[in-house]
Amino acid sequence: GAGPGAPCVPRYVRVNTLKTRVDDVVDFFKRQGYSFLGKAGSMEELRTLSGKKFLLDLHLPELLVFPPQTDFHDNRLYTSGHIILQDKASCLPAFLLSPVASSHVIDACAAPGNKTSHLAAILKNKGQIFAFDLDAKRLATMNTMLTRAGVTSFKLAQQDFLTVDPHDPKYSKVTYILLDPSCSGSGMVNRLLVEEAAPSAERLQALAGFQRRVLSHALSFPAVQRLAYSTCSVHREENEDVVQAVLQEQGSAFRLVNVFPSWPCRGLATFPGAECCLRASPADTLTQGFFVAVLERCRDQAAVPS
Ligand code: SAM
Repeated sequence: GAGPGAPCVPRYVRVNTLKTRVDDVVDFFKRQGYSFLGKAGSMEELRTLSGKKFLLDLHLPELLVFPPQTDFHDNRLYTSGHIILQDKASCLPAFLLSPVASSHVIDACAAPGNKTSHLAAILKNKGQIFAFDLDAKRLATMNTMLTRAGVTSFKLAQQDFLTVDPHDPKYSKVTYILLDPSCSGSGMVNRLLVEEAAPSAERLQALAGFQRRVLSHALSFPAVQRLAYSTCSVHREENEDVVQAVLQEQGSAFRLVNVFPSWPCRGLATFPGAECCLRASPADTLTQGFFVAVLERCRDQAAVPS
């Protein structure tokens, strides 16, 4: 959304490797008068960044870090799709899903498409991304953004993902799914500043119900091997609780992957294995509040034929 960012959260710039290279973007900003401090060695370096200085992130490749007040919405590199203005936490799902080149991937709740374009960059525009969203307006924005970013390997559909048939032969090679469903948004720092109330228990319950249904549905695609589930919520009802309920329902078909062991902030220990999940927050990771879980099909579990 619009408005100033949280004072403590740096501005992150993802280099769109479909169009350019990290070195070229670094040179561009140097020519604009920024000094490049190299790759960050600690979170402290990110925390204390100020003035016209920037760093390469210490956790994620192709991510540049600028001081909190930086705004590049009018920058030529942004308007030409060479850079994507995306919070660091929101770069985790595609990075951790890490689809191998030429894969077929579903982005189930995709608009406005930042994660879709990240997936396409990881796939180097090879393979196929099937992207779905309900919201026509957000899909229109997404089309413009993906075209600008040079993403060619995608099919965009205005469709309720819950109505997408997992047994349609079109999706028979889908081995990866990114699922970033609607959530309370309680992790968004800007939202916390402008909205008075935390989400009600009823609203959280309704969201969690949807999130469980959509996660179960995603896991019913017969060839899926790996799935990244994410929200920008800080509420366990939408995060650990959703993952726990769906894993339980799936029996031993899927397990949590212990992703990114060096990431400083883990899932709340609400069930055995929940520490495999990642959390993010302004205080702990200098990002928006966020949650990611990566699920993998257990090796000896073949898909149940229908
Ligand atoms: N992944 C997106 C990105 O990185 O730019 C952000 C997705 S946003 C958190 C959630 C999206 O889910 C919204 O655009 C909303 O319209 C969409 N959505 C909600 N219910 C849906 C459904 N049943 N099927 C498909 N999309 C849905």
